[in-house]
Amino acid sequence: MSVQENSESSQPAPYGYTATGRIRKKPLKSSVRVPEPNRYEASRNTNVRFINCSACYKDFSYQFDPHRAVWKHLQHFASKDPKHEEARDTFKKEERKEKSRIHAANCRARNVRKAKRVSAQFAAKAKIQRNLRRAGEFSEENLKKLLEEKMVEWDIEN
Ligand SMILES: [Zn+2]
Repeated sequence: MSVQENSESSQPAPYGYTATGRIRKKPLKSSVRVPEPNRYEASRNTNVRFINCSACYKDFSYQFDPHRAVWKHLQHFASKDPKHEEARDTFKKEERKEKSRIHAANCRARNVRKAKRVSAQFAAKAKIQRNLRRAGEFSEENLKKLLEEKMVEWDIEN
């Protein structure tokens, strides 16, 4: 390894490298835009929101799955009591809203990952190309093989 390579690799690169292999001075816009709250939202457990009956206030928090227990309770009493029927309909609506909210959050997370993957692939390709050329072993075949290996690694880590 040459001296130049040594000093290059020992420099800290908290934001990674650019497509041309330089140390990135600022974080990528796409990495800034990944908001933490989204991740929290996506993984938030809906079950904790329904731990008692909103019609008779019966407590189900001791149950293994309070959400399911409240639902069963509401289903059972809906045909007997209009208050419970109303509570069941509200429960249904809330649940539908929650589901679509989680779905949207998951879609956002998936898109962010996709964008990250594309940029990682781009950076990896440039780096592999450079290294192969340096070593005098460049061929499309080698590039493709190494890039595929690299992306398998990336998929495991991300
Ligand atoms: Zn009840």
